[in-house]
Amino acid sequence: MTENWLFHNALLENSSTPVDIAIRLGKVADIGPGLDLADCQVVDAGGMLASPLFIDPHHHLDCAFLSEPPNLSGTLEEAIQINARLKESRSDQDVFEKACRALQLAVQNGTGWMRSHTDIDSISKLKLLHPVSEAKQKFNGLLDVQLVAFPQLGLIADPHSIDLMRRAMREGADVVGGMPHAEASMDDAARHIEIAFQIAEEFNADIDMHVDETDNPASRTLELLAEVTIRQGYQGHLTVGHCCALSAYPDDYARRVIEKVAQAKISVITNPLVNLYLQGRQDAQPVRRGITRVKELLEAGVNVTCGSDDISNLFFPYGRMDMLEVAMATSVVSHLTRPQEIQAAFNMPRWHAAKCLNLQDYGIIIGAPANIVFLAANNAREALQLQPVKRLVVRNGNLVSSREERISYNS
Ligand SMILES: [Zn+2]
Repeated sequence: MTENWLFHNALLENSSTPVDIAIRLGKVADIGPGLDLADCQVVDAGGMLASPLFIDPHHHLDCAFLSEPPNLSGTLEEAIQINARLKESRSDQDVFEKACRALQLAVQNGTGWMRSHTDIDSISKLKLLHPVSEAKQKFNGLLDVQLVAFPQLGLIADPHSIDLMRRAMREGADVVGGMPHAEASMDDAARHIEIAFQIAEEFNADIDMHVDETDNPASRTLELLAEVTIRQGYQGHLTVGHCCALSAYPDDYARRVIEKVAQAKISVITNPLVNLYLQGRQDAQPVRRGITRVKELLEAGVNVTCGSDDISNLFFPYGRMDMLEVAMATSVVSHLTRPQEIQAAFNMPRWHAAKCLNLQDYGIIIGAPANIVFLAANNAREALQLQPVKRLVVRNGNLVSSREERISYNS
């Protein structure tokens, strides 16, 4: 049964005076100084910052903790090749347990929502989708997951994926994915985009694609995608992840692409830790960072957010399912260092991601569901700098995690 809570002495953002937050029947009932409500469990928040729960808009639960045999080159290509060999023989139980382990860490780190891509192709068919869907059901109401059907091996290069994508949308996927730059030519990439839009329209779904995840400046599918989005009237329903090649384009071409992305109202997700790791592997010094043009996108009015992408797998050996870590990396690598830019980095796995996932009532709002994480920090900069333990995590009015010490990531 949901309990009623009164969190005394909590700091709201952009305020220096702590307040009380009352929670009744799973919702924020009142916010103000000196609240005194009967029938509430009283907790002293000790002046901690109260933030809405975090959102991880880009992750791959289907390959969490899948790290053997190791990716020796450290490239995206080798990771995809090894993953393709492994996924055929994985048991449902293995996929389910590893996805749950990642989700549990995310809950403890104050994440309340996630969008996760699941491979759909002629090798794995729907084999990964079903156990990941079970993990999604298990965490429903604790950490809500949107599943993206992700044709990682292409729709033209791997044509069986087209029917499988439709089946995936019928059997648990929420969002249509894609990876047009993986096709053999720009013509095939255009066809890939066209098919993905057809499927999205059939299922009245949003689209979230992996785009130009390469250092190669000739990879120009983002511009194509923005043009199709405008032509099809799909503005506001498209998200693109990575967009590394945007940083390798000549400045004048990059500016034109960014203008089109803004016109198409496309949300952009940078995955800074994973792309710092995977990109630039063929470069002599200076090695490129492989991170999209976050600052220029923000300045053009594009909704930019950040994702964890991976945890302990072939694509990235680290990761803690901690969106404060990802936001801090985004701030550093994108040079978001002025006060309002640091605030933007802190807002990325919160309001910016809420827009991308179409979440309603996001924030600490009277009358809205109570989804709050308490952090021992006074402001955005301290939250990113100190990477505080998420002391109290409240989801739909339930206290779902409470701890003092850093948690173990080894078991
Ligand atoms: Zn990804």
